This record gives sequence, C-alpha cells and structure tokens, in this order.
Amino acid sequence: MTPDLLVSGGRCVLPGGVQDADLAIADGRIVAIVQPGVIREARARLDVAGRFVLPGVIDAHVHVRDPGQTHKEDYAHASRAAAVGGVTTMISQPNTVPAITDVQGFAAVVEAARLSRVDHAICAGILAAAPDPRAVGGLAEAGAVAFEVLDDTGPLDGAGWLSLFDAVAPTGRPLAFLAADRAVMRRNLEAARARPGAGWRDFSRVISGEAEMLGYARAAALARISQVPLIVRQVTTAAGLQTLRQVKRAGSEVPVWVEVNVHHLFLTDEDLERQGPYAHMVPPPRPAEDVAALWLGINDGTVDFVSTDHAPHTREEKERGRVDLWTAPTGIPGLDSFAKLLVDAALTGRLSLERLAELVAGTPSRLHRLDHLKGAIRVGVDADLVVIDPAADWQLDEQHLHTRCGWSAFAGRRGRGALVATLLRGQLIAKDGIPLDAPIGRLLTPR
Ligand SMILES: [Zn+2]
Repeated sequence: MTPDLLVSGGRCVLPGGVQDADLAIADGRIVAIVQPGVIREARARLDVAGRFVLPGVIDAHVHVRDPGQTHKEDYAHASRAAAVGGVTTMISQPNTVPAITDVQGFAAVVEAARLSRVDHAICAGILAAAPDPRAVGGLAEAGAVAFEVLDDTGPLDGAGWLSLFDAVAPTGRPLAFLAADRAVMRRNLEAARARPGAGWRDFSRVISGEAEMLGYARAAALARISQVPLIVRQVTTAAGLQTLRQVKRAGSEVPVWVEVNVHHLFLTDEDLERQGPYAHMVPPPRPAEDVAALWLGINDGTVDFVSTDHAPHTREEKERGRVDLWTAPTGIPGLDSFAKLLVDAALTGRLSLERLAELVAGTPSRLHRLDHLKGAIRVGVDADLVVIDPAADWQLDEQHLHTRCGWSAFAGRRGRGALVATLLRGQLIAKDGIPLDAPIGRLLTPR
C-alpha cells in the first residue's frame, strides 16, 4: 500500500529510544516505522533530515475559558498557540461559564471547541459542596476523561472528601485536584496578609511544604480507600514531592499520578518578585531549592507528567495586582512556551528526549485512557508529530504569541531547538511558527 505521507530522514523519539527512521502515514495514522530509505513510494513526502521528531504534545491542564470568558481566551486562539507550540491535544478544564458539571455544560464546550485546530478532550468538574453521582455518571458517559474538584476552597471534612471520591468511583476515571491542606493554607494566608508591607514573596508562602505534605498524604489514603485513581495536581515543593515519592514507593493498587506545571520548572520566587502580577499563579513560583527538587523528581520518575495550567487573563485584569496583589487574578498563559522550554531543557542535558516524550505525551495519554489514539510514535496511533530543528535557536517574542491575552511570563527567553512543524493526524497544522488555519480538531473520548 502506498502511504499518504512519508516523514523521512528524521531522528525519531520512539518509546524505546531515539532512532533514525522513516514514518509512513495513511488515513492519519502511523502505519509503518522503518529504516531510512526502505519505503520508496508515497503520495507526499516531508523531509526532516537532521531533525528530531517527537510525539505530539498532550497538554492535560488547559483553561480555554470558552464558553464564558472569551475575552481572556477561546478555542480559536488557544488552539493556534497549541499548534505552533507543538501541542496536538488539549485537555480542557471545567471552570468555564457555565461550568462542566453536567451534560449541558459538557455539550456547550463541545460546541465551542468546533473552532479548535487541535484535538481535545474534556476534564469535567465535580462540585465539592454538592457532589452529584448522577451528573458524574452522565459526564463519564459523554466522554469526560477525568474529574476535577471545583469550588474546593471551603472547609471539607473527612466525610465530605469521601463523598467526592465515592461519587467518581463507579466511573473508573481519575479524580484530580490541588490537594494541599486547606486549613494550613488559610492560616498561612491570614499570616501573610497581616504582615506589614506584605509583597509578592509573602504570597508565595501561602501554599507551604507542610500544606502539600498533609494534603497529599490524605488524598493518597482516600484514593486507596475509595479505589479511585488520583491525579495530584500542581506539585511545587520539595516536601510535597518527597511525600509523594514515599506514597509511590509504598505501592498501591490504584494509581497516584503526579502533575507538575511547566512554569514551576522555569520560574522562581525571584521571577514573581520581578514580574509581580504576570508571574502570579496558584501555587506560586518557588525558591530555587524547590525547583531543583522538582527537576530531580522529573528525572527519578516521581513526577508522572508535565502540563501548563494555561490560565490567561487580560493585561488590564493583571494590572489590578499592582494596586492590590491580594485581588489580582491568578494564572498565566503557557501553550506558546510549553514545549519550547522543555525541548531546550532536553537539548541542554536537563532531561532526555525519551523522558520528555513520556512526560508530555506517553503518560498523559495512558492516564486519560487516550493511548489507543495518542501518546507515542507507534504503529496504529494518530500521526501527531512535532519536528524540532536542534541547530536552530528560538526567542519568545510577545508579538508572535497566538494566545488571546498576548503576553507571556517567558517573553524574551531564548533557547535551543526551534519547533519547525506540527502535524495532527498526518496533516500539517503549523510550520515555522505559523498556524495553518483549519479547525480540524476532534473531541477525544477515553477507550
Ligand atoms: Zn488550573
């Protein structure tokens, strides 16, 4: 059979290692991975000699803001940023307006996502104050890949937490949340606000290592009790990570997946001090010692996947933080810079390309049960590919961003390894930093 496309001459990052190989693609899927030159005929050819080919990135934590807050972001803009940034699958968060806490909310997002240039899946929400097992069941049937705890700032007692886990248990889907202990966070917040002349660094102490330790240990125990796979979101401290390392070493029949957001690997509390509202996020950027601990966790396997927590706000909204930092909206955009930062880290020796592929494609595909379609350069799955030129450098300029908000905490950064092409199901969706405008994104549902 003559393939539709032959991606030839690349150094492919396969699950077993980096290998020189040609990739044959038919009907949007990888149909053969062969020695260079073995397949001579194809309807089209993409020559990627001297370049690395990575599996398409899955960003498992994206606030697309659509519907409801489309002045901040929407599917058209977010998915252009994704395409240029090597992200071929976005998993969207449920705090839209309306929130994705029932099948109507789910349907509204599916409708908005018709303008997506990349494939997408939906993480639905479960209301902490009033978990509704019937709504959860309906959302799982509609295709939600995971459940995120919403409105989780209030006090939840042991029974409250258990009812959340129990509501999700019949679906078999993971439950995800920022699991740091709420009572400790509240106490830290009050102490920080009471400090005369409190600044950005005081805010960075609110979610402390102790809050992470306490909350993670409890969340892992609840996951075992209720037999619900757990996604521990947004781990940032050395102490929190060490708790999870111990949890994972002890072993459990239900998986505990550890997420780190890309900005916590590349920003510190010094950046928060310098950039103020534009580096203001929850959890906040950490001191360099914690960042170093996260990198150890990346390389020793404690961290399972890296995502963006892409959470844009307009400049006007962020500027409010200059007047009163406690009322500034939290969150920063990440889709434009996500893969760039990590590719540079790989090419400068901070992690291997194989480990990078596992962190941003392999593991997120498995834990959301999308691995029949996505996650690796493997025969049978979608031909979602990112082509990297290791000889070309990049610089992140705000005028070339595609997110709606138009700013980045990483503006001005430079690095190695330009992203020169992105393919979704064998179709070119971005080339040399330019998105190709065709909303071909599809809704993905778990196997
Ligand atoms: Zn988030």
